[in-house]
Amino acid sequence: MHYYSTNRQAPEATLEQAVVKGLAADKGLFMPAQIKRLPDAFYHNIGEMNFREIAFIVAEAFFGEDIEAGKLKDIVYDTLTFDTPVVPVHDNIGSLELFHGPTLAFKDVGARFMARLLGHFIRKEGKKEVNVLVATSGDTGSAVANGFLGVPGIHVYVLYPKGKVSEIQEKQFTTLGQNITALEIDGTFDDCQALVKTAFLDAELNEALQLTSANSINVARFLPQAFYYFHAYAQLARQGKNREVVFSVPSGNFGNITAGLFAKRMGLPVKRFIAANNRNDIFLQYLNTGIYTPRPSTATIANAMDVGDPSNFARILDLYGNSHEAICQDISGYSYNDETIRETISALYQETGYLLDPHGACGYRALRESLQPGENGIFLETAHPAKFLETVESTIGETIAIPQKLQAFMQGKKESVELPAAFAPFKRLLLER
Ligand SMILES: *Cc1c(COP(=O)(O)O)cnc(C)c1O
Repeated sequence: MHYYSTNRQAPEATLEQAVVKGLAADKGLFMPAQIKRLPDAFYHNIGEMNFREIAFIVAEAFFGEDIEAGKLKDIVYDTLTFDTPVVPVHDNIGSLELFHGPTLAFKDVGARFMARLLGHFIRKEGKKEVNVLVATSGDTGSAVANGFLGVPGIHVYVLYPKGKVSEIQEKQFTTLGQNITALEIDGTFDDCQALVKTAFLDAELNEALQLTSANSINVARFLPQAFYYFHAYAQLARQGKNREVVFSVPSGNFGNITAGLFAKRMGLPVKRFIAANNRNDIFLQYLNTGIYTPRPSTATIANAMDVGDPSNFARILDLYGNSHEAICQDISGYSYNDETIRETISALYQETGYLLDPHGACGYRALRESLQPGENGIFLETAHPAKFLETVESTIGETIAIPQKLQAFMQGKKESVELPAAFAPFKRLLLER
């Protein structure tokens, strides 16, 4: 299948080119030429299939023309070594827990898939080393670094804003060594993202090195996120709750929700989506006014959503043919400040004992405020609450248990390279390694 650029000024790319390049030459994002509708029989039987079986069928719709079925199945099955259960919180609200992977956040799914796909292309072609550049506001870095750790032929640079990610997040990508280099940037997440984007457009750098991105701009990271929307629906089907399904998605760069919108386009019966934001409410402003005005991000306690110019907005516009009206029909928006996020975590914990993380709390809150009679809501619980230990503990006034997987990271020694938020020193470092 071919991939076109949302800016439509670049030639069409193959899957391999789209994955290896990340961003199109005209700075647009790659979109698959087709979004195939899955047959009715699939939806009819979905309740009888397990996660891997469902994911393989979805993966075939996107990648089946480009990767041999046995190989694709290996990649999918090897990616999904953990479950994404829907845990009931209220009668009409379930938590889609996406934090059972190696780094306890949803990005494990996309990052593991992309690492395996890129590794497949490199082995097949005997390509020169690929350098993966990834800007992170917290969880992307850990998921990508762990997903790619030890994959031959790939070196990963994680750029993160100094002092703006939690200690646990930082440990997950600064303690790995091997083919992972952590770059501590004296700036914001947007500065990190800008450095990565500039690198992809720098002629000299691209001449010398093979560069790619593992942010959700990469199709191999973003498309596999559709898998768990189908799996969540299957679980609702088993409970007889698969009517008027509403997904509420805590959103930052909008890769996660866009994968859900793709799932709907493939025929998944979803009534509507909610984009739940922290105070960085650029998308909500767009829904309200029809005007998209990026602005610098504000730091919040849901820091993985501190994004002032969500990259996947271009994909949403493209998917809906630039129609503000059509977008508003499928997606509504909510924005919460830190105080409301804390209040939400605390209230639900007292009411039911279910502990939210600050991102999931936005998703949950939006459902609680907007769910209509007859609707079944699912919010995406995008990270384990222990990843935001200080925030969560100070909010509920109790200490919480740290999962074994996280404790193991905490014992490692931090190693990073400090850099200013300027392109020249970053470029020098890449060229000199
Ligand atoms: C990355 C992240 C988000 C935002 O996801 P996008 O795909 O960028 O919208 C939300 N919650 C957590 C915990 C994250 O790590």
